[in-house]
Amino acid sequence: MINGKIDFRSDTVTVPTEEMRKAMYQAVVGDDVYGDDETVNELERLTAQRFGKEAGLFVPTGTMSNQLALFTHVQRGEEVILPDNCHIIVHEAGAAAIIAAAQLRSIPNIGGEMPLDLVKQYIRKDPNDIHQPRTALITYENADSDGQVRSVKYMKEIKEVAVRYNLPVHVDGARIFNAATYLNVDVKEMAQYADTISICLSKGLCAPVGSVLVGSKEFIALARRKRKILGGGMRQVGILAAAGILALQEMPQRLQADHDNAKYLATRLKEVKGLEVYEERQQINMVFFRLKNYPLDSAALVRYMAVNGVRINGEDNGMMRFVTHYYVSQKEIDQVVQLLKDAK
Ligand SMILES: *Cc1c(COP(=O)(O)O)cnc(C)c1O
Repeated sequence: MINGKIDFRSDTVTVPTEEMRKAMYQAVVGDDVYGDDETVNELERLTAQRFGKEAGLFVPTGTMSNQLALFTHVQRGEEVILPDNCHIIVHEAGAAAIIAAAQLRSIPNIGGEMPLDLVKQYIRKDPNDIHQPRTALITYENADSDGQVRSVKYMKEIKEVAVRYNLPVHVDGARIFNAATYLNVDVKEMAQYADTISICLSKGLCAPVGSVLVGSKEFIALARRKRKILGGGMRQVGILAAAGILALQEMPQRLQADHDNAKYLATRLKEVKGLEVYEERQQINMVFFRLKNYPLDSAALVRYMAVNGVRINGEDNGMMRFVTHYYVSQKEIDQVVQLLKDAK
């Protein structure tokens, strides 16, 4: 429950835990633009260390983190190779065209991955050709917002292609801890195949705000300057980083519980007449299903649930998505399933 409501819309709805609020209250803070905020410095250091990278940069959102990665890796007019359904293309309001002024060269996401042969084919081979843009970056998500996880093998293969053409790889790891939990690997194993990674602290990890971009010292120093350009140089922001430290240190190890709950939810949803559940897509904390001859359409279902104290999103491209997180219990899942069965 969050503020008296069951909330299946996203893991972004998670409010900070009691411990986080206490840590925020007690945080030692300073002016982070002067580099004085010990709590921010600690979060950046710990995150970098956790991912086996040299440095980290605390930013307010995952969008800013991704856009900073583009802004720092890519010169105006250069190309970024990325899957066509990714957050940078679909959910960042065209920022790549405005901030980095990058040309996005998207590749169909087939079965959750950009096919390797297409990635190779799409890389511009001749940087001296005056007609062609230059390829500057390959980026993809792990896990993605469709709840799909890329294997470590795939990450390695992408990195090998990138190395062959002397390109950096940025991984949008908004939910990288969910991916690592699903793969049962340490995030370092995944991170070795990325030059930079963006990590969200404010999704399933419950921090109220914040993402960290990690990479080499040199890259992060450049990104820090670019963050200032975006107006993202914040002052006593250790107030937020304090929650971020707990998100990083205490929360990843409990994500399996969210994944187990999602599995349980998927199994129970199959009992409901008129729902078609996509169990094969169910890898992390997300459950996908369609309404097939269900008594209510998507909009009516959202209203019906709202009246009964349950928040859900309507369908997107015909697909419904329920998300489990820290504030979803089995008991609440049972309640929602009962409501779904009772709808007329
Ligand atoms: C949530 C998310 C982001 C960042 O979103 P913000 O709302 O800006 O924090 C980036 N990429 C993916 C795949 C996400 O799911």
